[in-house]
Amino acid sequence: MGICSSFRDARDRAVDRCYRCIPCLADPARRSALGLKVALVALHLVYVGILFLFDGDLIEKTKHEPWYTSLYLLLFVATLVQYFVTSGSSPGYVLDAMRDINETNVTFRKTSASSKQPASSKNGSLVITVDSGQLGRNAPGSNATSWTKRVLDMYPPGTSIRTVTCSYCNVEQPPRSKHCHDCDRCVLQFDHHCVWLGACIGRGNHCKFWWYIFEETALCLWTGILYITYLKTNIARAWWKDVIMILLLITLAFCMIFLLLLLLFHSYLVLTNQTTYELVRRRRIPYLRGIPERVFPFSEGICRNLYNFCCVQSSIYSLEWLPTTLELEEKSRPYTCSDFLSCRCC
Ligand SMILES: [Zn+2]
Ligand SMILES: [Zn+2]
Repeated sequence: MGICSSFRDARDRAVDRCYRCIPCLADPARRSALGLKVALVALHLVYVGILFLFDGDLIEKTKHEPWYTSLYLLLFVATLVQYFVTSGSSPGYVLDAMRDINETNVTFRKTSASSKQPASSKNGSLVITVDSGQLGRNAPGSNATSWTKRVLDMYPPGTSIRTVTCSYCNVEQPPRSKHCHDCDRCVLQFDHHCVWLGACIGRGNHCKFWWYIFEETALCLWTGILYITYLKTNIARAWWKDVIMILLLITLAFCMIFLLLLLLFHSYLVLTNQTTYELVRRRRIPYLRGIPERVFPFSEGICRNLYNFCCVQSSIYSLEWLPTTLELEEKSRPYTCSDFLSCRCC
């Protein structure tokens, strides 16, 4: 009994010391996210390590054709780097976008005030004050912030401010935003909260996420080919090596099928400018209610969607307006022969 309690005390003291050295480990959520990252790196190392450990032919091949193994290892490193970059990137939080827009507005007002008024009164016309304690919200008693006005402008006229305000963050959500309960923040163009990455996927990092699953799929495929090549060579070797390799290959095949389907699914979302959340909860999202199933309200054509997704990264806080009734009617129009000739869908 006494030994048990002294062991527990010693363990608690060691854990406390560990938390003091690495403060982020004290938070259970961050601890589990870190555990996942360590597990992912370990899994990758096991798959590739066992291959190089068992496969003498691969080592031989590396000596004669070093470029082949170098390319494979490059993909391996690039995939892990992409994983950490995606997991550490911001999905584009609504609060940050609000702060960004309000700050831009303050700078603009300051500039216009200083050009019109004497220097002594140049701060007199400031309406918005950006205070970190208020998370970027305007000072009490001032007019509606530029953020509130901008968000309301994006919805059809007559939309009440209450219906677009998040009850958790108390911030006005632009169209396509959603509150993430895991991150406890509203995310712009919310796609989903990825448990594997320990991060939300939204406007700011959807492109990075797509590249991550692309690289991971390519790595899985290449590793699978190397495993099959190893098993096909008729060299006498220990049976247990074959058993380990077959078991790893089976799990790899499952991962590859899952990744391939995920890649195809996200490619479809990109081409039609949709998010996972919009596709899954289409009937429950107010701004998508009543729109026919095959109409993608935010799509600007395949080429434009692709360009916006890959190349327009100037600001992750740029917001999307809801399409007008006229635009929706135009998008709902059935395709004719001339539409196909003029590539209307592109
Ligand atoms: Zn929220
Ligand atoms: Zn989240």
